[in-house]
Amino acid sequence: MSIQDLIRPSIKALKPYSSARDEFKGSKDNLIFLDANENPFENGVNRYPDPQQGELKALISKIKNVPTENILLGNGSDEVLDLLIRMFCEPNKDNIIILPPTYGMYEVLANVNAVETFKVNLSYETFQPQDSNIIEAANINSKILFLCSPNNPTGNSFEASTIEFLLKNFKGIVVIDEAYIDFAIEDSWLGKLQHFPNLVVTQTLSKAYGMAGIRLGMCFASAEIIATLNKIKPPYNINQLTQDKAMEGLRKMTLVNSQIACLLDERGALIKALEDVDFIVKVYPSDANFVMVKVDDANKRYEQLIDSGIVIRNRTTQPLCDNCLRLTVGTEEENKRLIENLKTL
Ligand SMILES: *Cc1c(COP(=O)(O)O)cnc(C)c1O
Repeated sequence: MSIQDLIRPSIKALKPYSSARDEFKGSKDNLIFLDANENPFENGVNRYPDPQQGELKALISKIKNVPTENILLGNGSDEVLDLLIRMFCEPNKDNIIILPPTYGMYEVLANVNAVETFKVNLSYETFQPQDSNIIEAANINSKILFLCSPNNPTGNSFEASTIEFLLKNFKGIVVIDEAYIDFAIEDSWLGKLQHFPNLVVTQTLSKAYGMAGIRLGMCFASAEIIATLNKIKPPYNINQLTQDKAMEGLRKMTLVNSQIACLLDERGALIKALEDVDFIVKVYPSDANFVMVKVDDANKRYEQLIDSGIVIRNRTTQPLCDNCLRLTVGTEEENKRLIENLKTL
């Protein structure tokens, strides 16, 4: 498969904007910068940030064991997903494939870009991709297949053999959205980047790393794909405050790992407690920091919980999610209150 053949012609031909900080990259010491029309009075953020986020990428590279040439950072993974669609999908011509029930942003971003969305539902109850149906649904304009694993809102990981089949048989880009990978038993696909030229992995600082507020998404792919994404990203897409805060957070991996361990314990306790709530029909297994449950009447239970001061996500309108609610794992205290409240309804 040639990645170049998948890229939109207009993007391949694009000459990227060259910013002041692209054109002069020398060290900052003893230089006077009069090239970017910045305000010269120091306040910590008066200068444009590094457009390539060199220091931050070096840190991520070390933590993830992926070379920096295989990393692109975005203003949340949502920006990364948008860039991927714009790189590969010609408006009013190409399509993406998604596997409902899944993360809502893939379809929204496709719609924004006038790209059609083909849908192949996950299998009933096990929520695994129906691999041969997916390959059958694809046509020559199917440029990206989005796999969310662990999947939001169902919480399960997709089987490695199924993902491998799709990587080998789908004739486009396979994006594995690993927003919840730090809570999963399954391994990340980051280690397989070299084996599959069409593999793109996205991760985020918004969930396990506890930094949803700073908006930092990560994209890992071949140097070829990353180079083209770099051409089309906004020049200074990661602001200085985000770069600073991300580095601060990523230097505290012991804290992050202990929080993950705590949330995994809490998830186990929550699942056990949910199984004893009489109107909960089913508690689905979870590889993420949330649990999906099927109840007798999702709309009613959702409203009741709001009345008792607890906000959860009602997923009942999603395919295969009749009467399903999605509950985020909170602190021990929060989970206790959730359970106590559920038992009084
Ligand atoms: C939360 C979430 C994200 C994170 O998006 P950000 O823009 O990085 O905050 C991505 N994918 C899925 C499936 C999610 O649930």
